[in-house]
Amino acid sequence: MNTAIYDVRNLTEEMLERAEVRGEAEARRATDTALEAVEEAARVIRRGGLVAFPTETVYGLGADAFNEAAVRRIYAAKGRPSDNPMIVHLARASDIGALAAALTPDTVRLIEGFWPGPLSIVVKKSAAVPDAVTGGLDSVAVRMPDDPVALALIRRAGTPIAAPSANLSGRPSPTAAEHVLRDLDGRVDAILAGNPCRVGIESTVLDLSEGRPVILRPGFVTADGIAALLGKSVETDPAIFTRDGDKDAARVPKSPGMKYRHYAPEAEMMVLEGARERVKSEMARLKTLNERLGRRVGTLLFEEKAFLEAAQGLFAELRALDDAGADLIIAGALSEDDALGFAVMNRMMKAAGYNIIRV
Ligand code: AMP
Ligand code: MG
Repeated sequence: MNTAIYDVRNLTEEMLERAEVRGEAEARRATDTALEAVEEAARVIRRGGLVAFPTETVYGLGADAFNEAAVRRIYAAKGRPSDNPMIVHLARASDIGALAAALTPDTVRLIEGFWPGPLSIVVKKSAAVPDAVTGGLDSVAVRMPDDPVALALIRRAGTPIAAPSANLSGRPSPTAAEHVLRDLDGRVDAILAGNPCRVGIESTVLDLSEGRPVILRPGFVTADGIAALLGKSVETDPAIFTRDGDKDAARVPKSPGMKYRHYAPEAEMMVLEGARERVKSEMARLKTLNERLGRRVGTLLFEEKAFLEAAQGLFAELRALDDAGADLIIAGALSEDDALGFAVMNRMMKAAGYNIIRV
């Protein structure tokens, strides 16, 4: 398959403001060109094809959510197990009406409070949602992304877009167009190549399908933020706190995607946890030791409280270390007392296959 690549880096909030609000001719020309590319991509979606597109969290690989055959093609392109459900992306919050069996007051409050934004809400699905989207579950995850390219694509496609992350299954999620190209060139119809993602980790997944709100995947939107808005306590799926992944059979995750080895670099990876200075010195010691054994060692240590930078950088760093040919990655843990730090650590521990060493 020949993959069409469209440059849509000009389609930013700032450029749209300069074009539409301030009427700058040059900005208008640049955004018009990008919007034509989006129109091409929307046509691909309408015809049942696959388009990778940027969102504020990570790049998504989209198909018409109501076209079962198109959705199945996503699994094939990613090499993704077909029981792993996808998130359906909307351009208008009210379009959730076509996907959800019923809307509760909590759902409406969350939509008003957090959409567009990095919060996916799991609700009981309507009959219109194909099983291929939900992996056969009777619920569906829905969100409205906060990204001008994603919103323009969905609006012009005229249909909700089902989209998992636009990486090969098992690889780190893509946070820049070149990651998508690397994984999916020749496997999808089109790639909308925009700017690097602002958030960098996947959306928070909140289950509302059973009444009580339960976080199934931590992300930029926090449990405390949700609890404050709803005025009630929010649970977190105990599987998220596990430190040994699939080995703990008693805690099978409710969110199907959480059970797969995820975000994994090709290199072996370990996470060092402890006081900062101790982590640094152990990191240096282990690096030297392993290099003397002939291994190529990469290290990954974010600034102590730079949680957003860690979220934005984690997947790109893992890919860069793979590309550099590292066969061992030694990473330093972030504080899990911070909600975003906790969300990043969830990905880092999975990437390391829960190979965590207390120093
Ligand atoms: P991705 O799109 O790759 O970020 O993955 C989406 C993830 O959202 C899935 O792997 C699941 O963990 C979760 N998810 C999607 N739909 C549902 C659902 N109906 N119930 C529970 N979790 C879901
Ligand atoms: Mg994914």
